[in-house]
Amino acid sequence: MNALPVFLPVHHALHQPLRDYSDGLPPVPHPEAPQRIESILSALREADGIALHEVEALADDETLARLHDRDYLAFLEEIGTLIGDTEEYLPGVFRDDLSRAPLAMRGGMYCREIGTPLRRGSMRAARNSAAAALAAAEAVRQGADTAIALCRPPGHHAGRRRYGGYCLLNNACLAASHLGEMRGPVAVLDLDYHLGDGSLEFADETLRYWSLHADPWLSYPWLDAGVDPGGPFVRLRSLPEDCDGACYLALLDEVLAEITACGCRSLVLSLGFDTLAGDDIQDQAVQLEMDDYRAIAIRVRALGLPAVIVLEGGYDAPRLGDCMTAFLAGWKR
Ligand SMILES: [Zn+2]
Repeated sequence: MNALPVFLPVHHALHQPLRDYSDGLPPVPHPEAPQRIESILSALREADGIALHEVEALADDETLARLHDRDYLAFLEEIGTLIGDTEEYLPGVFRDDLSRAPLAMRGGMYCREIGTPLRRGSMRAARNSAAAALAAAEAVRQGADTAIALCRPPGHHAGRRRYGGYCLLNNACLAASHLGEMRGPVAVLDLDYHLGDGSLEFADETLRYWSLHADPWLSYPWLDAGVDPGGPFVRLRSLPEDCDGACYLALLDEVLAEITACGCRSLVLSLGFDTLAGDDIQDQAVQLEMDDYRAIAIRVRALGLPAVIVLEGGYDAPRLGDCMTAFLAGWKR
């Protein structure tokens, strides 16, 4: 059996938000930290059958513009020039169109919250994270059965012209777009704790989106009460409160039956480990244990589709390595 390729964005630590202000409480040390990747890497370095590829590349505007608007990309690039080495940036006002405002004020038309501070190197890290996802997609295009991208920052909350939820660029949908050129249509399956409200924006006949997530009105992304996040190419399921492994797997089986029937030719798995019992990010409790990730992997693998696995959330950093180990034990079985 060939070694499983894993792509690491080596510049991820250039994005290191200092504080998370998003709960409306005194800010806490930001949970989307480089230690998340370090935990997974230390587990992978002890695992057999892994080929680790360090990605130095940065995704360019031409590639990113397949999904994201040019003025949005320009803002993320240029705002870094205003941020000092020890500072972080948050928008001050939130409006629909701040295009006539100076650069420092413009963030509030691309972001509606204060959970995702930007650092001087954030866009460079985000481009590198996207490049890792694209490298994994390219590996599958070239014939790999599965490839993993250890994306950081994560991506599934990033929309066409919107950052937030710790995400700047939509890594999973970029991978799906690249994969779909050769192996389309693509099923994007999002198993992060949170609904990927960014990924939703990109769903169409070539990119079908399924998500299993905490109730998005009772937890992040805190949808507007009147919003229906569905659509013709989107299938969503909310988890009940205190959903444990058995509960989760039963719902996952329903989702996987739909994917089997969709005729998709490849898979992008948005994999978050913030469904782990006790992850502090949770608003509505989900109670998965380590062995549940093994069971999830076995089930998703049984789809038999070429797969790009893109890391999303998961904030219990010391335990993320064990989560990935458990997942791979099922995937490589
Ligand atoms: Zn999440």
